[in-house]
Amino acid sequence: MSSDNSSADDVRQVWDVVVVGAGPAGASAAYAAAVTGRRVLLLEKAELPRYKTCGGGIIGPSRDALPPGFELPLRDRVHAVTFSLDGRFTRTRRSKQMLFGLVNRPEFDQQLVEHAQKAGAELRTGVTVQRVEQHGAAVPDRRTVAVVLQGGETVLARAGVGADGSASRIGAHVGVKLDQVDLGLEAEIPVPETVAEDWRGRVLIDWGPIPGSYGWVFPKGDTLTVGVISARGEGAATKRYLEDFVARLGLAGFEPSISSGHLTRCRTEDSPLTRGRVLVCGDAAGMLEPWTREGISFALRSGRLAGEWAVRIAEAHDAVDARRQALNYAFAIKAGLGVEMAVGKRMLAVFERRPGLFHAALTGFRPAWRAFRDITQGSTSLGEIVRTHPVAQRALTALDRRPAAQAAAAEQEAEGVRDRQDAAGS
Ligand SMILES: Cc1cc2nc3c(=O)[nH]c(=O)nc-3n(C[C@H](O)[C@H](O)[C@H](O)COP(=O)(O)OP(=O)(O)OC[C@H]3O[C@@H](n4cnc5c(N)ncnc54)[C@H](O)[C@@H]3O)c2cc1C
Repeated sequence: MSSDNSSADDVRQVWDVVVVGAGPAGASAAYAAAVTGRRVLLLEKAELPRYKTCGGGIIGPSRDALPPGFELPLRDRVHAVTFSLDGRFTRTRRSKQMLFGLVNRPEFDQQLVEHAQKAGAELRTGVTVQRVEQHGAAVPDRRTVAVVLQGGETVLARAGVGADGSASRIGAHVGVKLDQVDLGLEAEIPVPETVAEDWRGRVLIDWGPIPGSYGWVFPKGDTLTVGVISARGEGAATKRYLEDFVARLGLAGFEPSISSGHLTRCRTEDSPLTRGRVLVCGDAAGMLEPWTREGISFALRSGRLAGEWAVRIAEAHDAVDARRQALNYAFAIKAGLGVEMAVGKRMLAVFERRPGLFHAALTGFRPAWRAFRDITQGSTSLGEIVRTHPVAQRALTALDRRPAAQAAAAEQEAEGVRDRQDAAGS
């Protein structure tokens, strides 16, 4: 708990860190802050477990970012991937070692929250945060953040973490800027045992008919998660893609238990990540792999960093110190996940124009499949491959036909971040 010169009563009412949103980002932030012994409050508008539109694909970096002792509630282990190009040229690739795991999000997210609670975080569900204030009548002093709940109650903290997902109110407070918004549509389809058996251990990835779109089948025992994702603004075409996809797979006769949609958002490279004593992470910060729209690892990794730096902000003795800690958080994000996102954006730009090339590479060119395997297993990353393999670098540059000045600026930015990262020894 914080200690300062205020009266004992005031001190008791101020949390060290308040985290808004109990998805992977929020639970990860709450865990990282609570494990240091600080008083942490985690606020969630839903009752848990809550449904989240998501494939539940847990790749290596997600697994590696889980808190110590966390046991993944895997519904299936993926050893094979069937690729198709808008339903054609189907080919299955296999791996002896597991490629990635599949979870049900309600179960996974609740377990993460329980882990944060075991570390000492307090959870309040069924409370919607309306806004955050850092100045004005609700804020007793300059070292405090006021989190205003629906209904008027105010919660006070030394630092705030916004992990409230892709429609984030805390992100709006911080001024998060976006340059990519996509719409994901999904159906949870219960299937008979014979159909489930056919999919066990195998996923399907279909490169879709709309530029930048793709679809997937992720098996979870007796239920298949079938989804598609595409740029926002193509709502009718995206819906049609999902319908055609489901029909083509012979699954149209099975009634989905849940059909839902959700937006994913990617930040601009210069988007803010902090404002005063408030940090944002996960979807709330627009942190997501732009090509695959994989976001759980970004949520877990940025959440952990946000929790760690929120503790330092909570302990900051003045505004200058708090600002320094907030900037350190932003730097850590940009040097790591930011570089990954920059490469992902370039991959998406190429994929939008040449989905057939991706399909041909993954199904017919062994090094491309090995790269896919290594990335999903977590032994390397897309950024690392482009950085360390001159051939991959040249291929991406040749295919990324953005105007030369724009591509050069992106390259320079990535170089600059890498240099700073090297200088920082990280
Ligand atoms: C169709 C689809 C499929 C996907 N598939 C995958 C996949 O297979 N693998 C992968 O890695 N990623 C996937 N993603 C991305 C992934 O789901 C997200 O990146 C991830 O959930 C982000 O976690 P988060 O904690 O930031 O946000 P969320 O999981 O969205 O959690 C935010 C939480 O904040 C709460 N909240 C919101 N507003 C408030 C408020 N005002 N007050 C209090 N609480 C609030 C919400 O109820 C929610 O519980 C997919 C996304 C989509 C749309």
